[in-house]
Amino acid sequence: SEPLLKVENLKKYYPIKGGIFGKVSETVRAVDGVSFTVNEGETLGIVGESGCGKSTTGRMIMRLIEPTEGSIQFEGKDILNISKSEMRKVRKDVQMIFQDPYASLNPRQTVGSIIEEPMIVHGLGDRKERRERVEELLELVGLSAYHAKRYPHQFSGGQRQRIGIARALAVRPKLIIADEPVSALDVSVQSQVLNLLQDLQKKFNLTYIFIAHDLSVVRHISNRVGVMYLGKIVEISDSESLYDNPKHPYTKALLSAVPIPDPDKTADRIILSGDVPSPAHPPAGCAFHDRCPVAMDICSKEKPVMKEMEDGRLVSCHLYD
Ligand code: SF4
Ligand code: MG
Repeated sequence: SEPLLKVENLKKYYPIKGGIFGKVSETVRAVDGVSFTVNEGETLGIVGESGCGKSTTGRMIMRLIEPTEGSIQFEGKDILNISKSEMRKVRKDVQMIFQDPYASLNPRQTVGSIIEEPMIVHGLGDRKERRERVEELLELVGLSAYHAKRYPHQFSGGQRQRIGIARALAVRPKLIIADEPVSALDVSVQSQVLNLLQDLQKKFNLTYIFIAHDLSVVRHISNRVGVMYLGKIVEISDSESLYDNPKHPYTKALLSAVPIPDPDKTADRIILSGDVPSPAHPPAGCAFHDRCPVAMDICSKEKPVMKEMEDGRLVSCHLYD
């Protein structure tokens, strides 16, 4: 069956104006040709360091940012070329959970009206039905109906993220894009929120795109994981093979930074030299070449292309030419 979401060659370039005449002098390639699919009911993890383009990718799918190039198909519809009324339906079907649950909740609104708002926007239910739905949602996310009358500052970080999740669920979406939803939370609270997201996924057959900078966070929640570096996906695979047998040198380095629970397995931490280069000046050839511990001559000259391996994973690296 066709995937719920299909993203092809998605790009976001930002011109930076410079010079005394304000002429366009350079281009930041925030997202530089990203392709992937997400099937109904699965979770795709997208992982990479800050600035790699993962949030921009999520925001383009929400159409909070307009892509420079590429296509986004949701349920087979090209959402960059549909009517306003069709787009309104997509905006209901695709919801987002943000990293900072405090910044994304209006401090002057009660929790009840925060959760109710998307239902008003999409014209769902009358006032009484919406209020009942708010109470049901609060309970679904592990809070209580009486919390509807309170304000965001009266809640802990984890509770505020639960409120953000309730708001995202209010309009019964199909796809939820979660942009680092647990990064701001304590480790103990992180796992509670991850468990909640997994329970809700089962209950409502939700599809997730789960964005994180840390491979350990997406490990248990993701069916597949895509690793991003400088605006590109460098490897995308089912989670198990990615974690057991990473292929791309960047995936290996990211994974080596994750603590291993199994004492029989040892992996040396791969320390990458240098910083992530600026997306305004990506290195020639493989954008990772000046940090890659196994770079070869060809790597600084030719861009690697995405190749499909026997196990179905996609890798972009000259090692596998
Ligand atoms: Fe390293 Fe070359 Fe592979 Fe890039 S293409 S990751 S530089 S081996
Ligand atoms: Mg981000």
